[in-house]
Amino acid sequence: MSLQAAVSDQILAIRVNAQIDDLANHERFATATPDMVEAIVEGIGQFAAGEWAPLNRIGDKEGAVLANGTVSLPDGFAAAYQAYVEQGWNAIAGPVEHGGQGLPFTLAANVLENLGSANMAFSLLPMLTVGAIESLHHHGTPAQQALYLPKLISGEWSGTMNLTEPQAGSDVGALRTTATPRGDGTWSIKGTKIFITWGEHDLAGNVIHLVLARTPGAPAGTRGISLFLVPKYLVNADGSLGARNDLRCAGLEHKLGIMASPTCVMSFGDNDQCIGELVGHENEGIKAMFTMMNSARINVGNQGVQIAERALQQARYYARERIQSARAGSPSREPVAIVEHPDVRRMLLRMRALTEGARALLYYTAGMVDRGALGIEGAQARADCLVPMIKAWGTDIGCEVASLGVQIHGGMGFIEETGAAQHYRDARIAPIYEGTNGIQAADLVTRKLGYEGGEVLTSLFAEIVANCSDAPVLQALAQDCIDVAQWMAADSSIDDKLAGSVPFCTMASVAVAGWQLQRQVRDGAGGEQKAVVARYFNEHLAAESRGQKALAMAGADLFYALSAEALAG
Ligand SMILES: Cc1cc2nc3c(=O)[nH]c(=O)nc-3n(C[C@H](O)[C@H](O)[C@H](O)COP(=O)(O)OP(=O)(O)OC[C@H]3O[C@@H](n4cnc5c(N)ncnc54)[C@H](O)[C@@H]3O)c2cc1C
Repeated sequence: MSLQAAVSDQILAIRVNAQIDDLANHERFATATPDMVEAIVEGIGQFAAGEWAPLNRIGDKEGAVLANGTVSLPDGFAAAYQAYVEQGWNAIAGPVEHGGQGLPFTLAANVLENLGSANMAFSLLPMLTVGAIESLHHHGTPAQQALYLPKLISGEWSGTMNLTEPQAGSDVGALRTTATPRGDGTWSIKGTKIFITWGEHDLAGNVIHLVLARTPGAPAGTRGISLFLVPKYLVNADGSLGARNDLRCAGLEHKLGIMASPTCVMSFGDNDQCIGELVGHENEGIKAMFTMMNSARINVGNQGVQIAERALQQARYYARERIQSARAGSPSREPVAIVEHPDVRRMLLRMRALTEGARALLYYTAGMVDRGALGIEGAQARADCLVPMIKAWGTDIGCEVASLGVQIHGGMGFIEETGAAQHYRDARIAPIYEGTNGIQAADLVTRKLGYEGGEVLTSLFAEIVANCSDAPVLQALAQDCIDVAQWMAADSSIDDKLAGSVPFCTMASVAVAGWQLQRQVRDGAGGEQKAVVARYFNEHLAAESRGQKALAMAGADLFYALSAEALAG
């Protein structure tokens, strides 16, 4: 079935959770007027549903193909990407001095939300380019920025992030790719990267790879990693394309989902002629990566919302169309649409509450990022704490909602023709890449929990307690979060903290998402429907989450009761 952009719910979240009107009061974001917001949300919604969504199925069936060193996509992708670039969607939040529109990150998040609901695999192309833009914007030299940023911002060229190697996944510090000075200020790059999203393709004129590598004599681990810009085609001083660089796509991975996103094995320097430029300072590559990591992780959390929305729309449609059995509580023996059965209603309401709650959390986080960029006190630290929540919980709910979507379709959900199965398969990558959800939870309890002696997180939960007198379960859940945070800060070992990190991350996310949904209810624009969805969120999801307090504080002893041989032998 065709996609309908969730325009009104997106505008509500942008207005209430990101508080866009307040952002527009600052000179930097003054162009984000209500009219502009509406034009963007409606415009990208229409574009994505009209031009990218119809390619979702064919992208899944035919996927990306590697032949003679070139990766091609099914018919229609090149034209759809060209239209996206020509309409200026790639430039929404790019810096004005390099051709961007300088609008808030919140609105760039909305562009991605719509593109990803339409076609998650395809939306990874602009999503990765954003990462390259941010790295260069913050760490590139003026010359690098002038040469590369305008074409990355327009979308004429695309970008990639090359971190992962076979032995270096979560442990980025184990990477071995090398960079050796060539004597002319450039570097010779040599090594193999795996799992590189959109690492090779023919949709953009050039592919700008950002590659993490080690320079000679660099310290071991993450302290010895530097960031390099390595273009597919070398770029002349006037911006024209030069020779092909010594890098190639050595293979495409065969995957569970996102078939139209080429996941490449990239080989750099087969002939020792791969030329790269240092970005930022030597051995400070991880710092440069951290700059773009926040937005990259939010953008992956956004994918959870995207796929949840798509799966939800499909399930709603099917629940009205599929006739099966009389309703047990009705005197009539006529078979009814399955939406009439209590358990199907439970699933639909759960899907809606998870999707709308995650969207509320997404735009709250995005708005906080924009406030951080404006230098508003405390905003950046709060955004930093919200990032692992939207990444981990957002992508977890993407999987749960897509799974419920399959369930609502019954047997037809397991059959590829309906498309429900594709959403389920596509959703599954998001908890894995851009730092697995386990790594996100570890980041929350080992780094973020310690911000300002724990004050940043506890003040967030205290605000929920103070602000939710109309939602007592949320208040109680937020108080649970304070209790866990204090226990982790004071009484627990590092193993205990890590053992409880995922339950804590989940309960914290549910508390913040529920609070933000409650703010939407108070706004009133979502009417009765929003109130019912939020009630389900509070009475079911938040109530369930309260059970996680005991799990978060259970400690690690049970997990180590069996030896590694006994557990995994
Ligand atoms: C489709 C796809 C696209 C990708 N795109 C890119 C890309 O564009 N660029 C790029 O550089 N990489 C990319 N990746 C790589 C991705 O980021 C990694 O797969 C991910 O970071 C996990 O690393 P790994 O696969 O080596 O898993 P591992 O690190 O081996 O992890 C395996 C399991 O162990 C857990 N684990 C590992 N270490 C710890 C720890 N310290 N504490 C607790 N748990 C731990 C993990 O959470 C996970 O559950 C992509 C991967 C895929 C599959």
